[in-house]
Amino acid sequence: MDKREVLKTTFGYEHFRPGQEELIDGILAGRDVLGIMPTGAGKSLCYQVPALCLPGVSIVVSPLISLMKDQVQALNAAGVHAAYLNSSLSENQIAKAISLAAGGRYKIIYVAPERLLTQRFLWLSRQIEIPLVCVDETHCVSQWGQDFRPSYLAIADYVKTLKKRPAVAAFTATATKEVREDIIRALELSNPLVKVTGFDRKNLYWRVEQPRNKTDFVLSYLRAHENESGIIYCNTRKNVDQLYGILRDERIPAGRYHAGMEQEERVRSQDDFIYDNISVMVATNAFGMGIDKSNVRFVIHYNMPSSLENYYQEAGRAGRDGESAECILLYSPQDVVIGRVMLEGKTGNEQMTAEELATVQQQDVVRLRRMEHYCTCTSCLRNEILSYFGEKVGEPCGACGNCAKHYEERDVTRSAQAVLTLVRAIPGRFGPAVVASALHGDRTKRILDAGLSEKPGYGALAAMPEGEIRALLTSLEEAGVIARTMDRYGLVVPGKDAAAVHAGKPVVIRVPEAAEGEAASSRKRAKLPKGTTILSAEGIELFAQLRSLRLQLARKQGIPPYMVFSDKTLTDLVVKLPRSRDEMREVSGVGEKKLEAYGDAFLAAIGDYLAGYAASHGGETPVTVA
Ligand code: ADP
Ligand code: ZN
Repeated sequence: MDKREVLKTTFGYEHFRPGQEELIDGILAGRDVLGIMPTGAGKSLCYQVPALCLPGVSIVVSPLISLMKDQVQALNAAGVHAAYLNSSLSENQIAKAISLAAGGRYKIIYVAPERLLTQRFLWLSRQIEIPLVCVDETHCVSQWGQDFRPSYLAIADYVKTLKKRPAVAAFTATATKEVREDIIRALELSNPLVKVTGFDRKNLYWRVEQPRNKTDFVLSYLRAHENESGIIYCNTRKNVDQLYGILRDERIPAGRYHAGMEQEERVRSQDDFIYDNISVMVATNAFGMGIDKSNVRFVIHYNMPSSLENYYQEAGRAGRDGESAECILLYSPQDVVIGRVMLEGKTGNEQMTAEELATVQQQDVVRLRRMEHYCTCTSCLRNEILSYFGEKVGEPCGACGNCAKHYEERDVTRSAQAVLTLVRAIPGRFGPAVVASALHGDRTKRILDAGLSEKPGYGALAAMPEGEIRALLTSLEEAGVIARTMDRYGLVVPGKDAAAVHAGKPVVIRVPEAAEGEAASSRKRAKLPKGTTILSAEGIELFAQLRSLRLQLARKQGIPPYMVFSDKTLTDLVVKLPRSRDEMREVSGVGEKKLEAYGDAFLAAIGDYLAGYAASHGGETPVTVA
């Protein structure tokens, strides 16, 4: 079959997304490819489509058991014969799968890297034609990344055992140059087609909030978003347990996930989330790798992560279906202190020299600092992210929390001069917390022991609450009046503009005007990304009915609801109101297999709804789009 036909009949999609077609063409032409695309961009399709076009069996190397299971389930739901081989299967099951595979049963086989060089798998590889070997999460091959897996180094050896060299296709969301070069070297890619797609995810709405009480924020957000699926990330197991307890007490259908729980409980909790038995997951960053659930409508970070890479990956689990979703980071200055302590406890892997370890640690500090900057800046959040990932940015996006905020300009020249007076007397000796405390005129042991009460500028801002002084220091840092050392301590020093300000140059900063109802949805209030569909009251009602039909069908088959249809497909059904199978083929995400399996049930539900509406509205058809 031809690639467009596969896209339409198997996956039910009309168009390729940016980057997909080039990578697919590369693979079909027999080339090695490296695809660098953000989470949710659609990497899987880049190898699944060619796998279905090419003769023989394609092999996909994937690091995570849950990821393989999910992908194979989704492929089977779309009518593709696929299987996985990993340690979750018994030896008997593996033997059976291998013999089916040798008999030509599967088009795609997912395999854990540890299995590649086993006798059995090598035997299988000699029985079948292998045109393509794909490597998912391919950054695991790099020692520079956080997820280095020695077993990934076996991939290149495996490829060499094959009679005919297949195309090797590697995919990752990690963009750094070191990692990219490592991948090409370690996988021995030959003259690969490298495609880096834009990191912008237009359907994601970015927000940073600094609520007085994070728990209250979360509770009121969840009340405003009942029935929506979402993840709340906390930095420690303890925080997960606490927040989870509170949500349960409030009767919010939540689950939890962290590495301290029993394996069995973790699996149950994860399944509950994927199968929509619960709507909210409270978790550490141990949760989410390999979760392809497409209808996650929000990701809230209860604490600041240690880098924008991590943040983007975790937050990016929202809105994989392309429908609008929110990524909210709840910031407090305390998070920075904790982040720094966590970095200090970190050690490298044993293959690193002391020098390499020092380099990695220095990079960690810089990453943390950039993360902090994201939390405190007043500029466009989307642009902050994109420029971090090395993209050229244009105008502010108009669809993020900072773009939506109203700022008031404030002249803080006098306070800035006061701050500088103190900082110039103690350059590079204290972090912002101590500096703020000294400006406030505190008489703590720390301040007195350090002799700070004797310094010029001590107590100069006594009339300002200490929290406001901290915020002022952040703004002054952004304005270049002060700066911080690039080591792990982040000590305060005069900035590049210090001399000018001291000499009288005015300092104007932007402060957000007080927000009303901070937890309310900005998604509904603010300007939405282009192409977002907003349903009318009738549309929302029908959507809810189709969602519950989806849940019913999924339960009957024991598969996650989003594998029946994604939220995007449900929305498109509501918009297009198909009345026949042919009309239903036009809906995004409806392929032949799914049309066969679910078409009649959804057509009936839509028909019933339309008939009911017509009966009570003098024969009219509802308008489902706002
Ligand atoms: P990634 O692996 O890059 O994180 P996925 O492969 O899981 O992303 O794809 C994310 C979602 O986008 C899936 O629900 C997938 O079906 C959908 N998708 C992929 N390609 C397309 C396309 N061309 N048109 C519409 N939806 C797509
Ligand atoms: Zn913006």
